[in-house]
Order: sequence, then structure tokens, then C-alpha cells
Amino acid sequence: MTIVKDSANRYYASFVVEINPESLPKTDNSIGIDLGISTFATLSNGEKILAPKPLKKNLKKLAKFQRKFAKTEPGSKPRERRRLKIARLHAKIKDISFPSECCANGMLRKRTDFLHKLSTNLVKKYDTIVLEDLNVSGMVKNRKLSKAISDLGWRQFRTLTETKCEKYGREFRVINRWEPTSQKCSYCGFRGGKKELNVREWTCLNCGTFHDRDVNAAINIRMGC
Ligand SMILES: [Zn+2]
Repeated sequence: MTIVKDSANRYYASFVVEINPESLPKTDNSIGIDLGISTFATLSNGEKILAPKPLKKNLKKLAKFQRKFAKTEPGSKPRERRRLKIARLHAKIKDISFPSECCANGMLRKRTDFLHKLSTNLVKKYDTIVLEDLNVSGMVKNRKLSKAISDLGWRQFRTLTETKCEKYGREFRVINRWEPTSQKCSYCGFRGGKKELNVREWTCLNCGTFHDRDVNAAINIRMGC
């Protein structure tokens, strides 16, 4: 057993066990997943999964900070101020310690717990799971900022899902981040062009299908776009 003390003076015990992986029955179902901020995950079957509340509140705040940051001039003082605000909030999300009860780092545990349960449920239900590639570093050049974005839990979710798929013989696929998952009509394939982030629902100009933005994206992800 290895005892680890982290930078916040928390102790962890870590040890290895050997297990026989249980096999899961084939379901012949596949699912596409669109990851987002206000809705953590939208599934191609229309299901929406929300993040635990304290996390959601802070993530929304983070998104707001990031929008404001993007509007500042590179190299300017306001930009540095915004960057600092983001870094601080990021540290808070990641590392809140000793909240109310006895357990240290309540929020982080809550998030990890949420991600574990979600990934396990998905792996049980579906033979094939398709995610979008999280090319966060390409999205934002600032390294510290991209780290903040990448830590919304998406990366951890992907790692957990991938590992569990491997363990239980499920198929795990990732499609390119730059595929037009939110532009293309998942029903007829018509490309309606770029949509602003505040457009949550739209109607296809070609076939008239009414779409929820995230569900449509998740269906495209499932089909590999
Ligand atoms: Zn259409």
C-alpha cells in the first residue's frame, strides 16, 4: 500500500487488486454524446444529463469569465486580470477543500463520483459509445486558460468511459472535434451553416425537421458525422 499526501495536505491510500472482469451482455445499442457546459452530456436518444449543482453553478461562472476574457486585448492589463480570475475560479472548482462535513474536497469528490456513475451506466447500456474529440488546446491558445476549460470534467469523463469500455469489451470511438456536428441536419444531412451558441433550437431549411441543438449534435456524433 502506498500512502500519498497531496499539496492540500490530504492523505490517500492506494493499492492494487486483481479481479476477474465481469462480462456484460451485448445490447446492440450505440450512443453519441455531446458534452457541454449547462447540460453536461446530451445523448443521441434525447436524454440530457445535468452536472451536480455546485459544479454547474461554477462552470457557468467560468464560461462567463471566459467569454469576457476573449473580448480583452492580448497583452493588456484587463486581460491579465481576467486570466487571474479564471485561474482562481479554476482552482476553486478543482480543489475546494473541507466544505461542511468530514470529507475533504467535497466538490471534487462529488464530480468524480458523478463521472464514475455516468460512465458506468453508459457502458452497461451501450455496445458502442461515440464522443467528440476534445481539442481544447486548439480552441484556446492561452495554456492556462485551455487547462481551465479542459478541467470541466470532460477529459476525466472521457478517460473513465474509455477505460471501462476497454475493460468490458465495448467499442469506444472519438470523432474529430471540427466535424460540423451542430451545423448538419441529422435527418437529411443538409448543412445549415454556423449557428451562434445562443441558438438552442432550429428548423432545417431543407427537410423542415425541428432540432434541439445538442440532441442533433449528439446524433451526428453517433453517426460519425
Ligand atoms: Zn434536414
